[in-house]
Amino acid sequence: MWAAVEGTGTPGQDGSKGRNAMTITAETRLVGLFGYPVGHSLSPAMHNAAFAALGLNLRYVAFPVPPAHLADAVRALRALSFRGVNVTIPHKVAIVPLLDALDEEARAIGAVNTVIVEADGRLVGTNTDGRGYVRSLVEETGVDLAAQRVLILGAGGAARAVAVSLAKGGASRIAIANRTPEKAAELAAHLAPFADAWAVPPERLADAVREATLLINTTSVGMVPHADETPLPPEWLHDGLLVSDLVYRPLKTRLLREAEARGLVTHGGLGMLVHQGALAFERWTGRPAPVALMRDAALRALAAEKEGKEC
Ligand code: NAP
Repeated sequence: MWAAVEGTGTPGQDGSKGRNAMTITAETRLVGLFGYPVGHSLSPAMHNAAFAALGLNLRYVAFPVPPAHLADAVRALRALSFRGVNVTIPHKVAIVPLLDALDEEARAIGAVNTVIVEADGRLVGTNTDGRGYVRSLVEETGVDLAAQRVLILGAGGAARAVAVSLAKGGASRIAIANRTPEKAAELAAHLAPFADAWAVPPERLADAVREATLLINTTSVGMVPHADETPLPPEWLHDGLLVSDLVYRPLKTRLLREAEARGLVTHGGLGMLVHQGALAFERWTGRPAPVALMRDAALRALAAEKEGKEC
């Protein structure tokens, strides 16, 4: 683990405003994001606010890396003394063979969202998406995972990370429903070593919702610019169902609004974003992440984005 690098400039008093007021020096080290595209990422705002608040001489930069340049970008991490990077669509699986090692979480999920450059230059991949989700869900709702009958809508990369971490966190019954049923079957097979998991045939979706106690939308349905969409008819929501949505644009999706209107406990996607970032921060710096401050920075960046669109 790298030792934390103290900032040589004056930490801004305004870490809470998301600006890193420290001077960039010859000792400044980079972390960042590899994805394509990366323009809408909230991670620079979250991490730079945290570095400023803790007086760490680190900066977070989002790099748009086309797939053809991923191998060059990964090689540059060592050459340019990066501390690490986050990895997002479309590189989470493609980066795996380019790294020196994966930790147990990344191996179980089969994808990487965070790379740590170790002191000896080794590139180690981990995945904080699923653990970030579970931390946020448990923290915000107090749910007992072992007691849940889980229904996951979607079978993409986020569903895989969330499902593996739920199973490792104690959830033992996990149903998966997806627009493309073959992918639900694939994910259920992947989960077999961790939990009792099965794919829901499309014609059985209503029954599966009725049987569930924890419903998790991991699809992009309901995300702006399609915020009027929802993955389920509201009349399928029932008493005792905890409804969670990974989407955080908008912060409260139509699915969550309809669940709230029915008096159900809900959980939105922002907490997952913040906690996956906080777990990555802790791996890069060896310091506890200032989680509340990172959440505020993400919320401010979202508000600024909305204001910009409305201007
Ligand atoms: P992905 O790998 O591309 O998977 C997308 C999933 O959504 C697939 O299951 C896909 O079904 C389904 N889907 C897409 N459009 C649909 C539609 N119109 N109707 C029904 N199903 C549809 O993407 P991902 O990385 O898993 O991300 C999924 C969502 O999670 C996104 O909204 C993303 O913003 C959110 N997310 C949030 C966080 C967070 O920190 N809160 C982190 C990661 C992702 P098919 O298999 O049939 O295509």
